[in-house]
Amino acid sequence: MTVHVVGGGLAGLAAALALARSGRAVVLHEAAPLLGGRCRALPDGTDNGTHALIGANRAARRFLDAIGAGDAWVEPEPAGLPVLDLADGTARRIALSPAAWCDAARRPPGLSARALLALARVALPLRRDRPVAAVMAAHPALHRALVEPLVVAALNTPSEEASSRVLGAVLRRLGAPGAARLFVAREGLGPDLIAPARAALERAGGTVRTGARLRGLSLAEGRVAALDFGTGPQPLASGDAVVLALPPWETARLLPDLPVPTRFAPILNLHFARAAPGVPVRFLGLLGGLAQWVLVRPTGVSVTVSAADEAIEAEAEALAARAWGEIRAAAQAFALPGAWPEAPPPCRAVKERRATPRHTAGAVPPTPPRRPLANLALAGDWTLPALPATIEAAIRSGEAAARALRG
Ligand SMILES: Cc1cc2nc3c(=O)[nH]c(=O)nc-3n(C[C@H](O)[C@H](O)[C@H](O)COP(=O)(O)OP(=O)(O)OC[C@H]3O[C@@H](n4cnc5c(N)ncnc54)[C@H](O)[C@@H]3O)c2cc1C
Repeated sequence: MTVHVVGGGLAGLAAALALARSGRAVVLHEAAPLLGGRCRALPDGTDNGTHALIGANRAARRFLDAIGAGDAWVEPEPAGLPVLDLADGTARRIALSPAAWCDAARRPPGLSARALLALARVALPLRRDRPVAAVMAAHPALHRALVEPLVVAALNTPSEEASSRVLGAVLRRLGAPGAARLFVAREGLGPDLIAPARAALERAGGTVRTGARLRGLSLAEGRVAALDFGTGPQPLASGDAVVLALPPWETARLLPDLPVPTRFAPILNLHFARAAPGVPVRFLGLLGGLAQWVLVRPTGVSVTVSAADEAIEAEAEALAARAWGEIRAAAQAFALPGAWPEAPPPCRAVKERRATPRHTAGAVPPTPPRRPLANLALAGDWTLPALPATIEAAIRSGEAAARALRG
């Protein structure tokens, strides 16, 4: 009795690990040569994009501990995020945790009692779903300094369009102790997440097949009867089961009747080859420019642009020149160690056009059934549409798919 987990992103890895640890025989099939999906290391070791986790991502933090990678994720800015406003050169630290806002030095600008109340209302469940920018229109300073960057980072959707209901789900979880702490992989997604996840799965007895694309599946009597990886239909034994942990477009190709999201938002990452051995990992925010977040590691400097509808179309060289100027301003403002020459170092642009579904107000897609067929469960960040499509949603969905098949 084998469970075939199809898709080796984090949803598939979480499902496969949970099933293998519960004693099931598991084979994980991944189309690409490497595991990780939208959260992966490229063949040269560069992350496809900077991935940050917050303390509120409990399932993700538990998963890191379960694969022995908890200590590989570091908190680069425990005193609050350093944020440079490029419009006026103001440099300040901003705490993400509302509990820390009693310290005036870490409070976001524009945090009046009324603005706080408006934000608290967004966090109430069952409020009417509206675009976040419209909800915060009377509080432009707080919107610009805190709410918009948070929405763009967490929902990967422009604030003018983004769902206040999905933002509410994020805000409700930020109040708990430690929930707003921000973590990044010390070295990279390969060594600090995907390799340990694969090793943990293999230690639990799971098998990994890369370069194995599921071309089609055959259904009979409400069950998956066979899987076709390009060599013709391979019949399943009677106790066998399948977890499809695929992006929405692949799930729709294989199971056309399921409701899946159809609108996506891009993320652009620019990776500068600036080696600075020994420097601490840092994570800085920028307002009013192209770059939104800057991750500094000893091996390089990475810039993230989420909800990058416009930037994704621009030439990589022009993007690199602009972002490097902004990085240098931030490095100067926060006295980052090392040399920050005027000329940009070699830069690699990674454009993920379908990074996540768009979380548009009033358009929350229906939740697909977790187990649409007797021997098939679904996973993937998009299968929990009340949450932002993130590592947390992917891992939770994988673990839920494993429970659905066990139950
Ligand atoms: C640039 C970028 C930055 C991001 N930043 C963050 C962040 O800071 N924090 C955060 O929490 N989240 C972030 N995310 C979102 C996060 O990466 C995703 O939510 C998560 O990785 C989705 O995992 P998944 O397993 O659901 O899907 P995927 O990662 O898409 O996994 C699906 C897998 O299925 C494989 N596959 C597809 N078709 C087939 C087939 N027919 N047969 C076999 N295999 C197939 C794919 O190759 C892929 O490996 C970011 C995403 C991107 C792209």
